[in-house]
Amino acid sequence: MTGIPDGYYATPDPDNADTMTYWRARTGHVERWPAKAWYGPARLLKRDAPADRDSKVTWMRAWSDQYRAWLQRVTDTIAADPQTGRATFAAFTVRCCDCGRALTDTKSKTLGIGPECRRGYDEAFLASTLTPAVAKAHAAQARKATS
Ligand SMILES: [Zn+2]
Repeated sequence: MTGIPDGYYATPDPDNADTMTYWRARTGHVERWPAKAWYGPARLLKRDAPADRDSKVTWMRAWSDQYRAWLQRVTDTIAADPQTGRATFAAFTVRCCDCGRALTDTKSKTLGIGPECRRGYDEAFLASTLTPAVAKAHAAQARKATS
């Protein structure tokens, strides 16, 4: 359990700032999004495995520890600032930060959240929290695209 609210998040790879990683949090668990995507340390290949059993177990454990540490850094980053993670997801995918559906209208894209998911939030709250975070993410994305 991470304490991260349910929703969709994007955060740069902690080992490679040029690569964005995408995640879905459900009931406190964070999983790769889409489900078959892979982020983080490259997976082991069978052909690289040491021949003897003990070395192979050590080799697999070392990778597993490395991956877990990497994933912990990702979830710590998201947990420290979930709103930026959600806004970044919306900016990079133009999808709702709450349900993950594609956003179509300009207002939803600006806010980073769809009309159904933002129902119940007042406009002042959305303008003061979501809009600056999404605008920042959009600006960073534009800077990256032109540089
Ligand atoms: Zn939504």
